Amino acid sequence: MKKYIIAVGAVLLLAIGLVWLIMQKEPSSISGSREVAMAKDPVCGMEVSKKDSPSAVHMGKTFYFKSEACKARFNENPMKYMNN
Ligand SMILES: [Zn+2]
Repeated sequence: MKKYIIAVGAVLLLAIGLVWLIMQKEPSSISGSREVAMAKDPVCGMEVSKKDSPSAVHMGKTFYFKSEACKARFNENPMKYMNN
């Protein structure tokens, strides 16, 4: 009888672990929300967070950069990076 209880406990733990894993993955799989928060650095091509990154407005469009160095490179020659 004790073995049966241990087996049920193990299955329950496994099920809880699985649900937890699925819940951890859920936020990133919701399409759209990530796209709004993230932008592509036109200079180095890195994905950057719009909230925490330096930005520059050029011809009415806002660009976001991984670092101030990328922003400086963009400002030197915006046309070079705009169509990326
Ligand atoms: Zn960059």
